[in-house]
Amino acid sequence: MRINIDVDCVVADFVGQVMSLVGRPEARHEATEWDWWKKYSTKERIIVDEAMRGREFWQNLPLIEDATEGINFLRENKHDITWITAPYKMCPVWVDARYKWLETHFQRSAREEPIIYTKYKHLVPATAMIDDRALWIDEWEAAQDNKGLGYLFKTELNCNLNREMVVWKDIMQMRFFQFEEFKPTKYT
Ligand SMILES: [Mg+2]
Repeated sequence: MRINIDVDCVVADFVGQVMSLVGRPEARHEATEWDWWKKYSTKERIIVDEAMRGREFWQNLPLIEDATEGINFLRENKHDITWITAPYKMCPVWVDARYKWLETHFQRSAREEPIIYTKYKHLVPATAMIDDRALWIDEWEAAQDNKGLGYLFKTELNCNLNREMVVWKDIMQMRFFQFEEFKPTKYT
């Protein structure tokens, strides 16, 4: 089946990158909402904002835990991946940096997996979608007439939501993702 996969906070560790920049890699729990660093001191805020305008921030993002294993698992189970990622407009070389990041970590082009650079994720149909932003999961499921299965990926940025969430270890254990022809219920 075709699966739409988000990049930031699903395979690329955006939170980890920001916390390393401000010198507190252990303080991931501070990231409870998008733009959380804007509540930091002026100095730290400027460090993050300036870094995000440049190529290195995006090209050097670390991997989310188990992301490599998770993507390999989906590929081995013959699923078709579409990468859908919302551009960061303040970085003029963002698209190129993202392209190279996906190439470095996932050798995307060898498999001809499409990359779609958009925040209008609901416009891209698929059987399933994995994203860490609840709004985008909800919009996407509604646009598929609720026939698509949206999986909310657990991250610091959504940890306060009272919803079912998954990480790569969960996905790799779900029978739903293990056999293309086998269609049990969503979380089995
Ligand atoms: Mg994301």
